Amino acid sequence: MISLEQLTKVYGHGDQRTVVLDRLDFSVDAGEIFAVVGPSGAGKSTLAQCVNLLERPTSGSVLVNGENLSQLSEKQLRVARRRIGTIFQSDGLYSRRTAAQNVALPLEYLGVTAAETRARVAELLGRVGLSNKAGHYPHQLSGGQRQRVGIARALALRPSVLLSDEATSGLDPDSTRSIVALLKELRDDLGLSILFITHEMDTVLQVADSVARLDHGRIVESGRIVELLRDP
Ligand code: ADP
Ligand code: ADP
Repeated sequence: MISLEQLTKVYGHGDQRTVVLDRLDFSVDAGEIFAVVGPSGAGKSTLAQCVNLLERPTSGSVLVNGENLSQLSEKQLRVARRRIGTIFQSDGLYSRRTAAQNVALPLEYLGVTAAETRARVAELLGRVGLSNKAGHYPHQLSGGQRQRVGIARALALRPSVLLSDEATSGLDPDSTRSIVALLKELRDDLGLSILFITHEMDTVLQVADSVARLDHGRIVESGRIVELLRDP
């Protein structure tokens, strides 16, 4: 589970002071897909960077499974980051590495043995439906398949949280649907807490259990999708 408590991010000082995130407060349970949707400039990228632990909040906290990650040292943060897998709009794959080699990267960095890496990569590619593409290079894969490789890589270190930062935004409707189906599978099978950040409301309606609408750094509305859809 991931929780934000009064998460606030301010850039600049004096006349230049901008409150980009204003006391955000929400939790994403294990086995839940929680969407944050908002227009350009709402603060989505900044939120993603705070959750990613690439940016530190000005005040407030990010907690994973109850542990406050906002107070850790840089060294502790490097370890804590493993608990959060991230997928982006750009798949971020290395073009000279095969699908399997891309998924293996985080494991290699950690010094996992070659045998264990091979087994883990095979399992991950199977989970995202790409067992038969292990030896393919990114340019030999479709956009949706590349995004699946990105998801497999994000899961390599067994995170409990998956952060999706506009991960379906560059995809055609069919690929988006297949990524949506995969995220739901991961939610159910692995019990991941999935934070799905996007500007696309139609994708939110397909994928999310709950949604918060972000505008000018504030949550202006939030609730269960089924309840929002029931409202007139
Ligand atoms: P885009 O380039 O599509 O406008 P960005 O998120 O890069 O989107 O920038 C959005 C706005 O945020 C811009 O107006 C930019 O001036 C401001 N901005 C982004 N990064 C910085 C930064 N490091 N320092 C100051 N302003 C920034
Ligand atoms: P979104 O991803 O929803 O488009 P951003 O998080 O990129 O929103 O930006 C939200 C606001 O924060 C914008 O007004 C932008 O100008 C401002 N902003 C983002 N990064 C910086 C920065 N590094 N310095 C100053 N302002 C920034």
